[in-house]
Amino acid sequence: MTGKKILLVEDNAANMTLATFLLQSAGYEVISATDAESGVGLARTQNPVLILMDIQLPGIDGLQATTQLRADESTRDIPVIALTALAMKGDEERILAAGCDGYIAKPLDYKSFLATVADYLDKASNGGSNHS
Ligand code: MN
Repeated sequence: MTGKKILLVEDNAANMTLATFLLQSAGYEVISATDAESGVGLARTQNPVLILMDIQLPGIDGLQATTQLRADESTRDIPVIALTALAMKGDEERILAAGCDGYIAKPLDYKSFLATVADYLDKASNGGSNHS
């Protein structure tokens, strides 16, 4: 799994720094964007194996961006994990309805963050994605 390219879309500098550090420490290649439009563009051109998508972003939000990714043939099969500080009932539903494969709650927990990423990469490589 070393060297797999992960796209991180996050507008908060501290979260970006932390997530990038953790992912790089685990051997992933990290490409990043601080807004959804740039993130969608990178997803199309860089073909990452996984996208970590903040929900609250300037301009279009992470859920709208995920809907765009799902509508595009070149990006629809890339797993998207939402990074969310939202923890209210109904949010999980909204996140999954937008086409995300799952979510990770912020603040990031070091160990479970990397375990969750590895878990989704495993799922993605075993039989590919299966978006309905
Ligand atoms: Mn944000």
